[in-house]
Amino acid sequence: MKVIVAVKRVVDYNVKVRVRSDGTGVETANVKMSMNPFDEIAVEEAVRLKEAGIASEIVAVSLGVTACQETLRTALAVGADRAVLVETDVELQPLAVARLLKSVVEREQAQLVLVGKQAIDDDANQTGQMLAALLGWAQATNACKLEIADGSARVTREVDGGLETLNAKLPLVMSTDLRLNTPRYATLPNIMKAKKKQLEMLSPAVLGVDPTPRLRTLDVSEPAGRKAGVMVKSVAELVEKLRNEAKVI
Ligand code: AMP
Repeated sequence: MKVIVAVKRVVDYNVKVRVRSDGTGVETANVKMSMNPFDEIAVEEAVRLKEAGIASEIVAVSLGVTACQETLRTALAVGADRAVLVETDVELQPLAVARLLKSVVEREQAQLVLVGKQAIDDDANQTGQMLAALLGWAQATNACKLEIADGSARVTREVDGGLETLNAKLPLVMSTDLRLNTPRYATLPNIMKAKKKQLEMLSPAVLGVDPTPRLRTLDVSEPAGRKAGVMVKSVAELVEKLRNEAKVI
């Protein structure tokens, strides 16, 4: 079974994001970029499937600027066999990503696509769902457990107030949640080996997809700053302020 894992290059989760002064988006110049954390979990899950003898090949796919090659090399160092970069400088929105991924999935004849439940930059939580719809495949979102046997996947999902278990016939698009696994670190020897693994370069034109954005961002702004707190001298004063100033009790 061939597995495709989509890996997005995003602002590192430890970086304090700054909004560009013209309000057109967030600052990405000179900012540390990394693999989207949910995609790290997706790569780890694919590697575990290969180690269990269920996956035969893992292809990591990224879409975006040339520097996404670094993200793909990370996936290769953790255990992906090959990588594909669909290179473009155009801002990619989830529908364009889903259409490009569909084309790659069809070229590769994969049976399982793993994506993150959301990219921590746009927080869209749309790509996996759109991809499953475009392919006409089953989908399971926010997975915290995956078992594959006899051409079917049993996926446990985190839902409000509990867990839901689904059974889906392959092929399947699955999105990962935080508790699916704990991703491993790439070892130095594997980072070196990853440099020699195949990284294929494609373009939206080769895949026959027009990635032009359909949505226009009108404004991006920082949340309002928090007001300074005050120290109260007694419980009575606290209750008085909560009742008469904050009006919350
Ligand atoms: P989103 O729908 O934007 O929140 O993204 C959900 C998931 O889709 C991500 O965690 C990735 O697995 C995948 N994805 C989105 N954009 C890209 C991209 N440009 N390259 C590779 N994967 C992507």
